[in-house]
Amino acid sequence: MARIVMKFGGTSVADLDRIRNVAARVKREVEAGHEVAVVVSAMSGVTNQLVAWCQQLSPLHDAREYDAVVATGEQVTSGLMAIALQEIGVEARSWHGWQIPLKTDGAHGKARIDSINGDELIRRMANGQVAVLAGFQGVGPDNRVTTLGRGGSDTSAVALAAALKAERCDIYTDVDGIYTTDPRIVAKARKLAKITYEEMLELASVGAKVLQTRSVELAMKERVRMQVLSSFADNTALGGDLPGSLVVDEDEIVEKELVAGIAYSRDEAKVTVRRVPDRPGIAAAIFGPLAGAGVNVDMIVQNISADGTTDMTFTLGRTDLPRARKTLDDNRAAIGFSEILADPDVAKISVVGVGMRSHSGVASTMFRTLADKGINIQVISTSEIKVSVLIGAEYTELAVRALHTAYGLDAA
Ligand code: ASP
Ligand code: MG
Repeated sequence: MARIVMKFGGTSVADLDRIRNVAARVKREVEAGHEVAVVVSAMSGVTNQLVAWCQQLSPLHDAREYDAVVATGEQVTSGLMAIALQEIGVEARSWHGWQIPLKTDGAHGKARIDSINGDELIRRMANGQVAVLAGFQGVGPDNRVTTLGRGGSDTSAVALAAALKAERCDIYTDVDGIYTTDPRIVAKARKLAKITYEEMLELASVGAKVLQTRSVELAMKERVRMQVLSSFADNTALGGDLPGSLVVDEDEIVEKELVAGIAYSRDEAKVTVRRVPDRPGIAAAIFGPLAGAGVNVDMIVQNISADGTTDMTFTLGRTDLPRARKTLDDNRAAIGFSEILADPDVAKISVVGVGMRSHSGVASTMFRTLADKGINIQVISTSEIKVSVLIGAEYTELAVRALHTAYGLDAA
């Protein structure tokens, strides 16, 4: 008997049939003698619609009211899931974030979890009741509903798994695992049986949208074993789920690959702040206000220049572009730039692998491969286990395919 957390993403609960299908899966685990907590996302498309409504009414809407609106998607699904479970004879009860309570900080729209009180859930689960938690939401210090940022129900699930000391946290989604790259653009992508937290973290943060980045951070910190698996694979004949991909500690992996995966993101934009004075404090003058406005900056390059001015180029999430522009304009006097150039037609391509720590040549292979395809590199950044480049968005597929082959990742 084990205690497990099962999390179902939007496509897995997209309509009533799929909710019934999920309920049947949960029932199997209950009948196997496990204590089960379920975390659900909003039905697919719902959160997007809710976000769009907020944006249409006011592009710079109040973050508290945004949370009040977008948290409702998961509330609907949690109630429906509890009903579907009850309907097939499984005792179940739904929980909103505030009812647990799952406490967060006050950063509405991208709140961080402070604590979860798992006592009541543990008591009920021990009595055979399935706890169905509305993912993505919590309650802030102001007692108002908060949300954890897009894709946040993965983080709800990991946090719950940690609070309940669950054996593992199964993330059911519409893909059957974590691949060396996006199988939709590289037919020869391979499913990874295991990947380290660190690699997954880098892949998640650079555009592999299987798991929310923060969920992996939390899993790494709390040592929660995560498994990504499909809620669609029809494997009842096999008596259970097909194995997915496990996200685990590095020493659980014997054969480490040089490059575990290649990710891309088209959600970025490139901004160049032209002709700023080349003096101490200029980076702080630019990036301080941006940070203050909640704009996450990623890659940064500063040019040298002969005439006492320089250009500062950086990337940021494309949706943050209007906010960044406004912030820079508001601080124009203090920064002293001549103009702002923005290019949303860029893609970031990243190769990731813990093997890079001990092997050289990964970056040069990347640059050579892209050069051979005639792809220009606009910005480069590296970390201990990652090399990222910014290129024109139109070259995304070409670059990812070429790199996949270059690192020997293609499936046989
Ligand atoms: N429903 C939320 C979203 O679409 C949270 C989640 O699905 O994880 O971002
Ligand atoms: Mg998701």
